[in-house]
Parts: sequence; structure tokens; C-alpha cells
Amino acid sequence: MLDVFPPALAELVVPPDRDAAASLDAADELAPLRQRFLLPEGVIYLDGNSLGPLPASTPPRLAEVVNEEWGRGLVRSWTAHGWIDLPLAVGDAIAELIGAAPGEVVVTDSVSVNLFKLLLAALRLRPGRPVILTDDANFPTDLYVAQGVVELLPGQVELRAVPRGQLEAALDRQVAVLSLSHVDFRTGELLDLPGLTQAAHRVGALALWDISHSAGVVPLDLDAAEVDLAVGCGYKYLNGGPGAPSFAYVARRLQEALANPISGWMGHAAPFDLDARYRPAAGVARLLAGTPPILSLVALAEGVRSLAGVGVARLRRKSRALTDLFIALVEREVAAWGFQLASPRQAQHRGAQVSFHHPHAYPIVQALIARGVIGDFRAPDLLRFGFAPAYLGFVDVWDAVARLRQVMAEEAWRAAEYHERKKVT
Ligand SMILES: *Cc1c(COP(=O)(O)O)cnc(C)c1O
Repeated sequence: MLDVFPPALAELVVPPDRDAAASLDAADELAPLRQRFLLPEGVIYLDGNSLGPLPASTPPRLAEVVNEEWGRGLVRSWTAHGWIDLPLAVGDAIAELIGAAPGEVVVTDSVSVNLFKLLLAALRLRPGRPVILTDDANFPTDLYVAQGVVELLPGQVELRAVPRGQLEAALDRQVAVLSLSHVDFRTGELLDLPGLTQAAHRVGALALWDISHSAGVVPLDLDAAEVDLAVGCGYKYLNGGPGAPSFAYVARRLQEALANPISGWMGHAAPFDLDARYRPAAGVARLLAGTPPILSLVALAEGVRSLAGVGVARLRRKSRALTDLFIALVEREVAAWGFQLASPRQAQHRGAQVSFHHPHAYPIVQALIARGVIGDFRAPDLLRFGFAPAYLGFVDVWDAVARLRQVMAEEAWRAAEYHERKKVT
């Protein structure tokens, strides 16, 4: 067992016992936020980076929208209850969390579909430049969608996927768009968003960021960083519910030139004129394609509201403390069983998640879930834990590591039931 902390953690005061962890919670001004969520008793939820929990306000609000607005209002609710404006209204609420101005964010479709739209739009904004540049460890859908764009335009578009350390060297005047994720979904590594955006601009390329793992938990200032385009997920730290629609950001300066390749009626300047010819809506609304999913948008609005009035900077300070503590406790309590930190050790270089390598990561995660500690497994050998600061405390971290220690000490993970691969890991 490791009883010496690595030097980078020297300044972290690790509580000596569970009571000391509890007093950190008692002193935490964000602790009351937990009341905003319905978390099952006995569960320590370390997977809000995969699916955020249910906000307490969501079930009554959905019931009202279903029973009153849909049930009684019927089609009149598109106007009477502002359904038609929800993609932009929820977009404006998200804009506050990511350093965007009102009118720069719209909620629509999935991240994958928005990536498709924005990659094609970026290529059209940079005619004569064939290259999409990305990091070869990017999130799978980001790579797959870019591959699909290349197949759609054979001979015209090329995907340059390089190791992260070679991105700047791979930026040249052939590059139309640099497409990256802000946080590595495996390790939690935080990329240098302002620096890479400026590097893209120096060669005249656009910067498209996927902020799925940072929106709502890592402070972002897309406008100040002069990001061109961004997409992000509604069901992770924004707590919008399973399959919540995603959001897309287009910097104001690019909006009037941007063309949506899915030129559907909801992105038309006047959908209900029912013109035969497509004319794009002004502003970011042109990224809409089809009819918005109102129930899902309402749930996402509640998810975003669950973070209202807090400030991402305060959330960030707490998530850094939670992840620092988790790393220190894991290395103190279970290092003897061969866990290797996969995340950057320094908190400023990672998002709100911590991952460890272990050769038996999958059954260990399953055994932990059976003991109420919900994290996830990522191939080939990662245990991944998310520390959403709005509903987790220091005692949760303490208890999670205690249960991990128990799983290892008792070799509980060896049970056959924990080795069977599920469809969703
Ligand atoms: C979660 C996530 C997505 C999800 O994409 P969907 O199309 O909405 O399923 C995309 N990109 C990244 C980086 C993610 O973390």
C-alpha cells in the first residue's frame, strides 16, 4: 500500500477519517444543491458524466407539460406556451454556462447530427481547403461523423487524424477546420481550448469544439476564446435526461454566412409561410432542421435550471477538490492492487472525471455497482468516475473508495456474474 503521497498532492489535506470528510461537507456552501436532485438512497453516483441524474423539478414540470400544455392546449401550445421558441430559449440558458451571448446557441438534434451539420458548414466556409484535422483519440462519434463526411465528398475532403501532441504541427493552410473535444472522454485530460483555437486561426482554419464533457462543469468562455463553432451534450452535466437533445454554438460573426446542410423547414426564415424555396432563418436558428422534441427540451430546460445561480467557477473549484481527494484516497487505500492513474495528476489539466487503469477494470466496476457505487468501464482497461459537484460530497468520495477497497480485499470482483459483458458499459 502507498503511504507516501506523490509530490503534486502534497498541499492537499486528506481527511484522516470519515468524520473529517463529513466536516468538509458541512463547510461546503454547494452542499445544499444536492436537494435539487432525486438520487436513490444508498447510491453514490459517479456517472453523471455519462447520464446526469433526475432533477427534482423535472417530473412535476413534465407532468404539467404533458397534461396541461399537450393534453388541454393541444396544437395551440406551440404559441401559447412558447414551444416554438424553446430551442433558442434553452440555448440562451446554456449560453450563460459556456461564455456565449444570447442568440449564439440553439438546442437541436444529437451531438452526432450537429457535428455533421457543422463540419459540412465549416468546409463551405473555407472553400478550397480539403482537410478536417482531429485528434486520433477523439470521441468515437466525432471520428465516425468526420469519416462519413469524407465518404460523402470523395476526393474533396480528407480527414487528418493525428496524435494529440502533433496537432499544432499538422495545422497548415490545407486545414478548413480543427475539430476537437475539450475533455478526453477516457482520461479526462483537458485540452488547451484557447491555445488550439488561436493556433487554428493562425493558419486561417476554423475551430470546432465538442464541449460535451465540460459544459456545466468546467468554466468556458467561448466568445472570449474566439471559438468559431461548438457542440455539446444535454444529458451529461446538464442533466437533461436520457437522449436529451444537444446544443450547437455558432459565433455571431459567422452566423449569416453559415449554411445548414440539412435545410429543413424549422431552420427556414418563415416556416409557416410554407414557401416552396428554402431561405435560412437569421442567426443560429438556421441550424434547426425538423420539429423540436418538446418533452425532451422541457426536461433539458429543468436540467439546466438545476445548475442556475451557482456559477461554473464555484462548481469547478469543488470538482477539483473532489477529484484530488479521490486520487489521493485511491492511491492510499488500493494502490497495492495495481491501479494506475490514467488521468492528469494536476487538477487544472483534467475535467471533472478520474480514470484508473486496471487489468480487471470491467468486473471491478460491476462489483462496485452492485455495492451502490456507480461508475463506468471504458475499453480496454479503464475504470472511469465522474465527480459532478452539484450533488456529490466529500463523504461520497470517502465511501466510494472504502467500497472499492472492500471489493479488492474480498476479491468480490472474481464472481462470475461480474464478468458478463453488458450491451452498455
Ligand atoms: C457524450 C458525447 C457525445 C454524444 O453524442 P450523441 O450524438 O448526442 O450521442 C458526443 N461527443 C462527445 C465528446 C461526448 O462526450
